[in-house]
Parts: sequence; structure tokens; C-alpha cells
Amino acid sequence: MLCQSNEELQKLVDEAREYAKKGKVADYIPALAKNNPDELSVAIQYPDGRCISAGDIHEKITLQSISKIISLALVLIDHGEDAVFRKVGMEPTGDPFNSIAKLETMSEVKPLNPMINAGALAVTHLIKGNTTEDRFNRLLAFSKMISGNSNIGYSEEVAESEMQTSHLNRSLCYFLKQHNIIDEDVEELMSLYTKQCAIEMTCFDLAKAGLVFALDGKDPETKEQIIPVDVSRICKTFMVTCGMYNEAGEFAIKIGIPAKSGVSGGILGAVPGKYGIGISGPSLNEKGNSIAGLKLLELLSKKYSLSIF
Ligand code: GLN
Repeated sequence: MLCQSNEELQKLVDEAREYAKKGKVADYIPALAKNNPDELSVAIQYPDGRCISAGDIHEKITLQSISKIISLALVLIDHGEDAVFRKVGMEPTGDPFNSIAKLETMSEVKPLNPMINAGALAVTHLIKGNTTEDRFNRLLAFSKMISGNSNIGYSEEVAESEMQTSHLNRSLCYFLKQHNIIDEDVEELMSLYTKQCAIEMTCFDLAKAGLVFALDGKDPETKEQIIPVDVSRICKTFMVTCGMYNEAGEFAIKIGIPAKSGVSGGILGAVPGKYGIGISGPSLNEKGNSIAGLKLLELLSKKYSLSIF
């Protein structure tokens, strides 16, 4: 049985928070440098509606790479597996999330998976809609639905900050365009992708969205199937194989929970059939994952035997 009280959870947060000092906040997107490195919060959402939480729980963070799981789910619903996996592969890279190293050396030019930036850009390109604004609004509506929070929005400041400084992602788009993986205007795609990454959630929202994946796509309240079972399964599989970038192996061994991180310090976790976990801790390790957040998940996983393996 998992933590039963906020107090019990707070003790683990206090222990994990010590690790935040060893990391630092992302600053390659200038607006993210304003995040508080000492912040740490967690929410655990149960299928029966109970939720326990601890730490700086009302802080919002931008999703950054966590959004890649949400956009992937949406385009799998929009287009089906075959069409999506024609544009992006299924294999982990073992490289950093923004690496360009393997793009040219594969037998077929295709980003290796949807969790690295190149793959995520190819996925975002597939979001359906008449205009870029339409496509973003569909993604935002989907994010609201899976987190059960109709108030979710995005940070214009963070989106704008990434838009102005994201030279590498822009170059990845041109590479993808050269190889016919995308065929839209690069600035339009960058605008959509940076807004996607700037969608803001609290640890509660992340935990609720995590629970939907944990429950094979079912809304815990209405029991409605809001994500098809297969789509949810594919997303959870990518969380295991690529969710922590080039730290996915160590994460699987030490923690063993399908999870996705972002450089703002967020982590969405889905313990199959059981819980959704949302964490926010902006101080990052050298792989770009929340350093205190990982420690907290490790403490939780060990204490309550949460590993799926
Ligand atoms: N918006 C970020 C980027 O593209 C997301 C990266 C991440 O969270 N790892 O660089």
C-alpha cells in the first residue's frame, strides 16, 4: 500500500529536496532560468479520487518534454500507428534528447523515437487542424481532458523565450523538411512546438494525467475511455524505453515506473493499474532530469515496491 498521508509523503520530499543542491535549473531556454532550484512537489492520484501531496504543490511548471507523450497520444488517435511510425521510429537512442548524431547514420532517415526532439517535432507536425492555432487548441483541449483541469493554459513567456533561442530545434526542422518527414513552414511548426512545450501544469495535473495512462486510457472519474488502450500502451512503453532520455536504463533499474520528464523539472509517472504521480523539481542533473524528483521517485519506488519489473 502506498503512502497514506501528506505527512508521510512530506518526509520523503524533505529527504529528496537535499539533492536539489547538486543540480541546476535549465537555462538554455532563458525563461526557465527563473525557476526556483529548491522547489520540490509531488502529488499521487489514486483511482478512487483520493490524492495525497507534499511540498510546493501550487507551483506550475511548463511541460517541456512531458508534452511529447501528450502530442504522441493525440497524433496516434488522429492518424493511427502505421502513419505515425512511418515518420518516427520506436528505438531508444542512448543519446541526449537534443542530439542530432544518429539522424543521418541510420539506413532510413527517420528520427529514432518520438521522445527525442527530432522525433517530437515530427510528431507535432502531425497534429491535425486547419491552422497552427487550431492545432495548438486541439492539443491544449486534449491536455485539459487528460488532466481533468479545464483551466490549463500555457506560458507565453516561456514559449517566446524558446522560440527566440531554439536554433538547434529549428535546424532539426530543416533537416526533417529536407528529408520529407515534415512539409510545413518551419516557423509555424516551431511556434506550435514551443507553445506545446510551454503548457503549464501543477503536480496535481501531472498526477491526474499520469493516472489516465496508468488506467489504460480510462478517465478515473467517468470511467470513459478517453485514450484508446493501444495508444496508452504505446505511450507507456515509450516512457519506459525513452522517457528519461539517456538515463532510461538507470531509471528502469532504480525506479522502474513508466515516466516522462521535462527540462523544467517535471515528471509524469504512471504506475500501471494503480497510481498517477506528478512531480515538479526544477533543479536538473546533467542528463536534464529533475535531480530531487528522481530521488523522490526512487524513495517512493523502493519503500512501496512500485517497480513494474
Ligand atoms: N522544449 C525543450 C526543447 O526542445 C524540451 C526538451 C526537454 O524537456 N528535454 O529543448
